[in-house]
Amino acid sequence: MSQNRPPAVGIDLGTTYSVVACLDDVNRPQTLVNGEGDKLTPSAVLFDGTDTVVGKEAVKAVATDAERVALCAKLELGSRMYDKVMGGRQYPPEAIEAWVLNKIRLDSQRQIGPFEKVVITVPAYFDETRRKATQDAGYMAGFDVMDIINEPTAAAVAFGYQRGMLNPDSRKQESKKVLVYDLGGGTFDVTVMDITGRDFVALATDGDVHLGGRDWDQRMVDYVAEEFVRQHGIDPREDPNTSGRLWRDCEDAKRTLSARSKASVACDYHGRTVRVEVSREKFDEITRDLLDRTAFTTRQTLQAAGLEWGQLERILLVGGSTRMPAVRQMLQELSGKEPDHSVSPDEAVAHGAALHAGLLIDESLGKPPRFRIQNVNSHSLGVVATDAATSRLRNVILIPRNSPLPVSAKRIFRTQKENQRSILVRVVEGESASPEDCSPIGKCSIKPLPPDLPVMTPIEVAFRYEVNGRLTVVVSVAGKEIAHEFQRENSLTQEQLDSWREYISGVPRYSPETE
Ligand code: ADP
Ligand code: MG
Repeated sequence: MSQNRPPAVGIDLGTTYSVVACLDDVNRPQTLVNGEGDKLTPSAVLFDGTDTVVGKEAVKAVATDAERVALCAKLELGSRMYDKVMGGRQYPPEAIEAWVLNKIRLDSQRQIGPFEKVVITVPAYFDETRRKATQDAGYMAGFDVMDIINEPTAAAVAFGYQRGMLNPDSRKQESKKVLVYDLGGGTFDVTVMDITGRDFVALATDGDVHLGGRDWDQRMVDYVAEEFVRQHGIDPREDPNTSGRLWRDCEDAKRTLSARSKASVACDYHGRTVRVEVSREKFDEITRDLLDRTAFTTRQTLQAAGLEWGQLERILLVGGSTRMPAVRQMLQELSGKEPDHSVSPDEAVAHGAALHAGLLIDESLGKPPRFRIQNVNSHSLGVVATDAATSRLRNVILIPRNSPLPVSAKRIFRTQKENQRSILVRVVEGESASPEDCSPIGKCSIKPLPPDLPVMTPIEVAFRYEVNGRLTVVVSVAGKEIAHEFQRENSLTQEQLDSWREYISGVPRYSPETE
C-alpha cells in the first residue's frame, strides 16, 4: 500500500445499528470499534438540551426520556421531517442520521486518523429520494461520500473476499448464483447476485423498507401488553417510558429465544406487575405472517432473476434478525439447502463497503480495479404524462425495474404552443400506471427554452440512472443541451446542507478546489 493512500472506509448505516470498517495495510477489511469499545453503534440519538448523545447511551435513555430519543431515523429518510418533536424541535431525518455518522467519524478518527472519504451502504430497495438523503446525511456529518452501494451487494463482496475470489491470482471463473437474504432491525432486502470470478452482478432485487426485527419486537410487546390489560385493565403502552422499557425487555427476550426455547418478560406499570413466559413456538406463531412476507418476497426475487432454487449456489444470511432460528428453518425448507452463515451477519455489509472504498481510491490513483460491481435499479422510473385518449394522468415507465445500471432512457416532449418558454416534467418511481401510487422523485423545470420555437418542437429529456442508483437528467433541444433545474421532493437545499454540516460536524463546507 502506498503511504499516502487515504484510509478506505465503509459505513453500514443501519436502521438500528451502524458498523464501520476500514482496510488495513494488506487490504483486509477490519471492523473499527466505537468510543465505548463496541463494534455495533446503535443508530439512536438523544437530544439532551443543546447536546446530542449518540449510541448506547441514547438507547438506554428510552426507558426514562423516551420523548427525547430519535430511533430508526433511516425509516423516515425521504420525509421532510422526522415525525417526533424533540426538545421543542423537529429535525429532518437525514440530520439525525448525520449525528450518528458524525459519532462514527469522530470515534474512527481516533484509530485511523482524520479521513473524509467514505462509502455508505443503503438497502437495495431504497428509492432515489432515500439514496439522495443518505448521501446528504454523509455530507452533513463532514464526509466526502465517494459512493453509496447496496447492502446485499456489499455483503456479497465481503463473501467473495472471504472466499479468496478477489485475489489477483484467483482463477475461479465459473458463475455462482448467490441469494443474499438481509433481515435487519427495520428493513428487509433480498438480492440475487451472479458472482463470476471478480465480477459481482446483481440480477434482481426486492424488499420491504418497513419490515425488520422491530416488527418482531412489536409483536412481543403487544403480546405482553395485552396480557397486562387482561389482568389489570390498563395498558402499559400508554406511557412512553414504560413502553420504552417494555420494548427493550421484549427485544432482549427475542434474542434469548434465538438461543433458548423459553424467555420471560416482566412489565410494571402503575404499581402492578405481570410476568409473561413466551416459548419459541408461541413467538414463532405470533410472528409467522412477518416471516411469510419475507418468504414471499424471496420467491418473487428468485423468479425475477429467472432462477430456480436448485440453481443457487448459496443463500447468504445477513442482518442481526437472521439469527432467529425460524428464519433459517424457513429458508432451508424453501430451498432445500442449509443457508450459509460464513460471513458475520453484523459486519459483512461494512466490510464490503470498505472493500468498495478501497477500489474507488485505487481507481482514483490509477490502479487497476480488484473487482467489478454491476447493479440493477430496484424501482421503475417514469414520467407523468397525459394520456391522449382519456386525458388522465399516467406514469410512463422509461426505465423498468431490475435494469442493469448505469442505464439511460430518453423521451421526447413537444411544445404545446408557439414560442413556449418552459416545460415541466414530473419524475416518479414505482410500478403502478397511476402516478398517485408512485413516489415522486422531483420535478424538472426546463427553462428558458430558446425563443421562437414553433409549436410541437421536440424537446429531448434523457434520464441516466447511475451505478449508485442516483439520477441525472439531461435536456436538449435540437441536439443542444439546455439548462434545467431538477427540484427534488423533500430535499434540503445546498445552503441548508452546508449549515447543518457546520452545525453537526463543525466541518466547513466542501469545495473541490480546496482538495
Ligand atoms: P440494521 O442493519 O437494520 O440496523 P442489524 O442487521 O444490525 O439491523 O440487526 C438488528 C436487528 O437484529 C435488531 O432488530 C435485533 O433485535 C436483531 N437481533 C440481533 N441479534 C439477534 C438475535 N440473537 N436473535 C434475534 N434477533 C436479533
Ligand atoms: Mg443492516
